[in-house]
Amino acid sequence: MTRTPLTTSFDALEVWFLTGSQHLYGPETLAQVADQSRGIADRLATDVPVKVVWKPVLTGSDEIRRVMLDANSDDRVIGVIAWMHTFSPAKMWISGLDALQKPLLHLHTQANVELPWAEIDFDFMNLNQAAHGDREFGYIQTRLGVPRTTVVGHVSDPAVSGRVAIWMRAAAGLQASRSLKLARFGDNMRFVAVTEGDKTEAEHVFGVQVNTWGVNELADAVAQASDSDVDALVAEYEELYDVVPELRRGGERHQSLRDGAAIELGLRSFLEEGGFGAFTTNFEDLGALKQLPGLAVQRLMAEGYGFGAEGDWKTAVLVRIANVIGAGLPGGASLMEDYTYDLTPGQERILGAHMLEVSPSLTTAKPTLEVHPLGIGGKDDPVRLVFNADAGPAVVVALSDMRDRFRLTANVVDVVEPTAPLPKLPVGRAVWIPQPDFRTSAWAWLQAGAAHHTVMSTAVGLDAWEDFARMAQTELVVIDEHTRPREFEQQLQWSAAYYRLARGI
Ligand code: MN
Repeated sequence: MTRTPLTTSFDALEVWFLTGSQHLYGPETLAQVADQSRGIADRLATDVPVKVVWKPVLTGSDEIRRVMLDANSDDRVIGVIAWMHTFSPAKMWISGLDALQKPLLHLHTQANVELPWAEIDFDFMNLNQAAHGDREFGYIQTRLGVPRTTVVGHVSDPAVSGRVAIWMRAAAGLQASRSLKLARFGDNMRFVAVTEGDKTEAEHVFGVQVNTWGVNELADAVAQASDSDVDALVAEYEELYDVVPELRRGGERHQSLRDGAAIELGLRSFLEEGGFGAFTTNFEDLGALKQLPGLAVQRLMAEGYGFGAEGDWKTAVLVRIANVIGAGLPGGASLMEDYTYDLTPGQERILGAHMLEVSPSLTTAKPTLEVHPLGIGGKDDPVRLVFNADAGPAVVVALSDMRDRFRLTANVVDVVEPTAPLPKLPVGRAVWIPQPDFRTSAWAWLQAGAAHHTVMSTAVGLDAWEDFARMAQTELVVIDEHTRPREFEQQLQWSAAYYRLARGI
């Protein structure tokens, strides 16, 4: 079988830079427009993570429609940036914008930073009129209801290129979700509601294919792991982690580590042979597996795979998307679960963890590799990485199926050091203070019907999730420093009404 290793980089991706104008100005002016727009695209390209491809200036509806169709059909293209350098009568853009199926960024910029006050004549005015050319373009986008991100300012401003970079990351996340294949080993944890959802609708909205395999197909792949591959992987563990003595070669529980390594090898081969970028497990349905996969899941998440526990495919999708959006940045993304609280007045905070499956991409410290009993699942004691998530800003995001739509709920949080050591809690864990405060955050989360499983992302902030939701035309409910209960409750009502209206019949 061919094996396809997972890719979580932007190397093969492109964004097209489109410039609008018209023939009214004559060839000389259009040549200047082309020079200047190429300069803007080149300047932008130096500060963003995805390759920027400049396209010749667009001056008519046929060529605009054609370039949009080409962008649609080219898998390398994750989105298009449009800028109306001069004035591009917007009826020319109707059929092209109607055809466009990739994310759109409207860059409202101009070639010059300062105005040459003493030199300005009407030639200059005619050449540099994005101030109203882009307003014409804004009108047609709004009239057609085109979802887009609008960024304002000169490309030499880091706030502008930084914002474009975030949009590119979100577009890469959408591209990844549209090509994502997700393998579920077993079904959802019995009787749980929020981890359920409409998988057919998810494929329509996010593009992800969610399908199930019997866990013993995974167990068969684990059984195929060779002793020499297990030896090599165990050596890698001993290099990367502080492995407790009982698990090391010669230690009395070394076989547990070998069993954990075999699970990783089998899981990896299954995922690579199927071209999967995300997966779920269920502790109630482990078949012939010797342990609940812990270490293997942790390492695969850190490599870029999506994962959800207890059959939670929706969170697995989010973990994969967050891994792509944050590719190459410090920090990471992980399955997280709001577990328990410190309700000490004035110091309220959330302790998050999971049974085992928290990604070590949340820490820059060297995790310890340990083995401990697990109260549920009825299998051998599982091996796992133990660490604290680094302190710093983060976002937790959940995905709920609201029957007629999906709802993303995001909370901006601050990860902090644990208040005291946690010597009897041998899992990856994070402690955080949610914005705007614990009481408002938890109240809003419950009112929004958001899940107990989330992706915690420490690599990218809220902007990227807002862009992603816009691109996927999916509801996003935000809980952050500005959240106030009365407005939040009204926002939920308006949002529900809006999404039902926007969907039509
Ligand atoms: Mn759980």
